[in-house]
Amino acid sequence: MRSRYAAFVLGLADYLRATWHDSTRPETLSLEDSPDWTLLQILNSDQTGDTGSVHFRAIYRVGSGWGFLEENSRFVREQGRWYYLQGETSEGQLKPGRNDPCPCGSGRKYKACCL
Ligand SMILES: [Zn+2]
Repeated sequence: MRSRYAAFVLGLADYLRATWHDSTRPETLSLEDSPDWTLLQILNSDQTGDTGSVHFRAIYRVGSGWGFLEENSRFVREQGRWYYLQGETSEGQLKPGRNDPCPCGSGRKYKACCL
């Protein structure tokens, strides 16, 4: 999962297609309109046998504010490799609290960083 996120950040569309299950994989994949990702938060993950799920939130910059993409992704394991199946996504505007971790990914508190 983390490697897929890294691929999004780096714009590695070929890698994303290679780890996408062939039953749900898009014909073409363009990352040119991707936002400027800053932070990945794994909210929950679960595995039962050869199926797994990851609930994550990815944060990006929008002008002087922040947006987020949240997804509950489902994965399946075939011949020892994990493939992305599909996910339910939601997007919105992020309103970080003063004491929250800064959405820029610095590891500092928001009030001591980008606020
Ligand atoms: Zn910051």
